[in-house]
Amino acid sequence: MKSNKEIVSALKLLAQLMELHEGNAFKIKSISNAAFKLGKYAESLAEKSESELASIEGVGKSVASKITELCTTDKIAELESLKEITPAGLIEMLGIKGLGPKKIQIIWQQLNIDNIGELYYACTENRLVEAKGFGLKTQEEIKKLIEFTMMNKGSLLLSTALQTYDELKNTIDITAVGELARQCEIITRLEFIAPSAQKNNIVAELGKLENIQGDVNDNTFEGTLNLNTKISIYFVDEGQWHAQKFIKTSTAEHLNLLTNFDLEKTLNSNINSEEEIYKNIGISFIPAAMREGNREVDLAKENKIPELIQNEDLKGSLHNHSTWSDGIHSLEEMAMYCYEIGYTYLGICDHSQSAFYANGLKPERVLAQFKEIENLNAKNTNFHIFKGIESDILNDGELDYDEDILKQFDFVVASVHSNLKMDESKANARLIKAIENPYTTMLGHPTGRLLLARQGYPINHQLIIDACAANNVAIEINANPLRLDLDWRWIDYALQKGVLLSINPDAHKKEGYHDMKFGVMVAQKGGLSKEFCLNAWDKNKLSDYFKSKKK
Ligand SMILES: [Zn+2]
Ligand SMILES: [Zn+2]
Repeated sequence: MKSNKEIVSALKLLAQLMELHEGNAFKIKSISNAAFKLGKYAESLAEKSESELASIEGVGKSVASKITELCTTDKIAELESLKEITPAGLIEMLGIKGLGPKKIQIIWQQLNIDNIGELYYACTENRLVEAKGFGLKTQEEIKKLIEFTMMNKGSLLLSTALQTYDELKNTIDITAVGELARQCEIITRLEFIAPSAQKNNIVAELGKLENIQGDVNDNTFEGTLNLNTKISIYFVDEGQWHAQKFIKTSTAEHLNLLTNFDLEKTLNSNINSEEEIYKNIGISFIPAAMREGNREVDLAKENKIPELIQNEDLKGSLHNHSTWSDGIHSLEEMAMYCYEIGYTYLGICDHSQSAFYANGLKPERVLAQFKEIENLNAKNTNFHIFKGIESDILNDGELDYDEDILKQFDFVVASVHSNLKMDESKANARLIKAIENPYTTMLGHPTGRLLLARQGYPINHQLIIDACAANNVAIEINANPLRLDLDWRWIDYALQKGVLLSINPDAHKKEGYHDMKFGVMVAQKGGLSKEFCLNAWDKNKLSDYFKSKKK
């Protein structure tokens, strides 16, 4: 038998979908009013006859017949036919509290967005700001709502997981292990260790946190964050701290690669650091980020673990947007802030002319932007703005300007933004054509993936990286926490082929530069060191590189 709750939510969804499809306003109002009234109704609706239902205040004949239809046939035909013509992603969007059908209709019709992941991404690219009835504030609100919804699905973006970790550390003394300690791009389970001596205290504190539920068994707290994300806290005795941190952080594959060593003996001895574990078994230290079970143990045996890139190594930020295209801050504001937080150069890469939805630059606006860049560069000689562009890769693989414009940029980031649903061979051919263009300096977000939201287009990474190697084109590690694309799993191969990388925030507002830290984290997983990262080079070296590339 249908519960009142099920009946009410079916009516609500019916009203929402009718509104989304611009149905009869009077009918929509009567259904949603009835749903509202019935939400508070105490007696079982399923047990009432159609005429009894129709006599309930706020429920007319038409709604009563829908309820009876639902209770007898398990469906409301009108609702089913509306569902059929509505993309599944939009129905999911309707479930976000605070985002009504009116807004969703605009998002769908005006912005062409039909799922939550794309909507989230659109918020990070300021696409909502311009839409009717939206503004910066609404955009930020929607972003927060989606973050909360995503969290409710269990998996977290690295950025969200780190934020949660920071918040938890304010009240309890925990140390990250597992995926978080390995700096994985998606966290499916939050795992921490904590000193056994703190157990009672931590359990008491956890009890006060509304968003965490769970129990302690033996020496482990197992529970959920926001009802969905798995969270474990292992209580560890002092003498076992480093051994447990090492075990709980490494993947099973990594530990397997170490089975031939005297690992057990080491772990049972009195060790004072994780470094000591690797020292005792006679190989170089392997940083937590790399303990995935790839090539790291072989490298460590040969003493070839690279010195991993650090945030402090970055000298500037390439691939950023301003109000010239779809950014929130002006070019001057972007430059000033970049300088203030300690960088020495900025590569501005607004969108190119085909990206009409992002206010892409027509050739005359490119030239006008050059003028502004030259003026700003003259004003502050301690800081340099490179003239860049994020050129759309057109369907046929061409870049988005004629040669006379292309040759005037200091550097060109070539990215795919449109027509993502190509088959693999076409997608490869399109990218390779762009990579072979002599003006392409760097390939932007190679797959276009949006983590937890959209699969990237199917490219053959090996083929694309080989083409970059052959044409001396660098590859971006897009540091937007939703992208982290190039996938870190391909960094090692790129480096072996001699391909340079660049950790780019793709900032659409000045605070966006801070995303570079997520790029650094995944770059470390891939074994990147500063020598092979373009934006870890100083201004002159980079400038020479751009010039030599153009010859
Ligand atoms: Zn882009
Ligand atoms: Zn961009």
